[in-house]
Amino acid sequence: MGAEQPAVEFRDIDIAYGKFVAVRDFSLSIRKGSFVTLLGPSGCGKTTILRSIAGLVDISGGQIMIDGRRVDDVPIYKRNIGLVFQSYALFPHKSVFDNVAFGLKYRNVPKPEIARKVGQALDMVRLPGSEKKLPSQLSGGQQQRIALARAIVFEPQVLLLDEPLSALDANMREEMRVEIKKIQKATGITAIFVTHDQEEALSMSDRIVVMNAGSVEQIGTPEEVYERPATAFVADFLGKANMLAGTVSKSDGPTAITLAAGQTVNVLSPKPLPKGNKVTVVVRPQKLSVAAGANRLSGRVVSTSYLGGSAIYEIDIGGKTSLRANAPINGRVVREGETIEVGFDPGGCVLLDVS
Ligand code: ATP
Repeated sequence: MGAEQPAVEFRDIDIAYGKFVAVRDFSLSIRKGSFVTLLGPSGCGKTTILRSIAGLVDISGGQIMIDGRRVDDVPIYKRNIGLVFQSYALFPHKSVFDNVAFGLKYRNVPKPEIARKVGQALDMVRLPGSEKKLPSQLSGGQQQRIALARAIVFEPQVLLLDEPLSALDANMREEMRVEIKKIQKATGITAIFVTHDQEEALSMSDRIVVMNAGSVEQIGTPEEVYERPATAFVADFLGKANMLAGTVSKSDGPTAITLAAGQTVNVLSPKPLPKGNKVTVVVRPQKLSVAAGANRLSGRVVSTSYLGGSAIYEIDIGGKTSLRANAPINGRVVREGETIEVGFDPGGCVLLDVS
């Protein structure tokens, strides 16, 4: 038995706009039925990659395969792909029915089947009976549901979602996260989602592709990229980690690191690092607790944000280093100007080799 054929595969693709190379050597294999997110800051090339699958931009090198067939020279109208954009891009003067039916009419599906499929798609997005309405009579969230119904109604091979939630308000955004995920699971469609919002990526994806300046930084499950960032960029982009510069001061047993701020901490290193090796110790604010943990760091509280069960502290630990802790309230809230001791266990951080 060979491995299952990927739904979508990028093989070393390059995409250039004139002389500017927006995507370089991008390779990715996407399993059928999975939900994959391209995550990265503005301008890193996410949308460009998404558009290349649909045929909206040309690639200048490499190959794109859908279900094992090369598509990079197949014209847009022959690619069987559903698209949802940030701006819902509905036809404003067409009814909901005509908007959703568009891809079916285009494919010459018989009329009774169109009516049945449109009805099913509207049920799926929880807007049954809205066929006769115009987009202007619907809220932003509802319009985005119609755009989703239009994209899935003809059962495309792949569903592409380009920042579909960013035009919605915060409550609607959270609701639609859950909704999109449910529909993707129920239909079993392969989905590629683009966002710069790490929470969206962490909560919705089977796998996340973290991108930076046209290249892949790391590919993994949400837990992998969050808990085990491979690079400083990934650590920082996903969840504002504390990045503590240091040097290996003892390399047998648990690795001892002397931080630039002066303190020494013991961490678990995935590979032995020689004494003197420059490293970055990555500690998530949530991994720090007040007056607990094997590695203790103390300093002066610069700011306190009380959040109910926990508080966020900005702590000056010396050496021009500021530490952010999001720690459960232990006894009482520590106020600005007071000293605090926070700690983490050797396994509660990630060590990046930067030498
Ligand atoms: P955003 O989140 O802002 O949409 P992105 O990660 O999706 O960003 P892209 O839109 O793919 O990024 O753009 C990648 C790079 O290519 C950017 O530097 C952008 O300025 C450039 N770019 C995008 N479209 C064009 C174009 N039509 N002509 C020239 N340069 C372009």
